[in-house]
Amino acid sequence: MKPYKNKINRIRSFALSLIFIGVIVMYIGLFFRKYEIVMLLFMVLGVLAILASVVVYAWIGTLSTRAVQIVCPNCGKETKMLGRVDMCGHCREPLTMDPTLEGKDFDEIYNKPNKRKS
Ligand SMILES: [Zn+2]
Repeated sequence: MKPYKNKINRIRSFALSLIFIGVIVMYIGLFFRKYEIVMLLFMVLGVLAILASVVVYAWIGTLSTRAVQIVCPNCGKETKMLGRVDMCGHCREPLTMDPTLEGKDFDEIYNKPNKRKS
């Protein structure tokens, strides 16, 4: 398995895990019903995690508008890519917008201008 994931998919799974964390934290809070302040603390934390995931989802929305929709040359499905290099969301084929990087091994370092390999 290739080590990198499509960026949008990765952010989306992060947002999804935030929702789960929020629900779990609130559930844990229910065990502290005797201690109202502790329960309240867990509830607030849970709500914060869920709110954070809403923010992340909104962020994905703005990212998606900037993402370039392309057809993956490997699997032929449509995928969205972000930045100079990204992965196909279906088959994890490395994709690049930069012709000078074509054929090179996929490396996330290409997305960080300061640490770019020459
Ligand atoms: Zn693909």
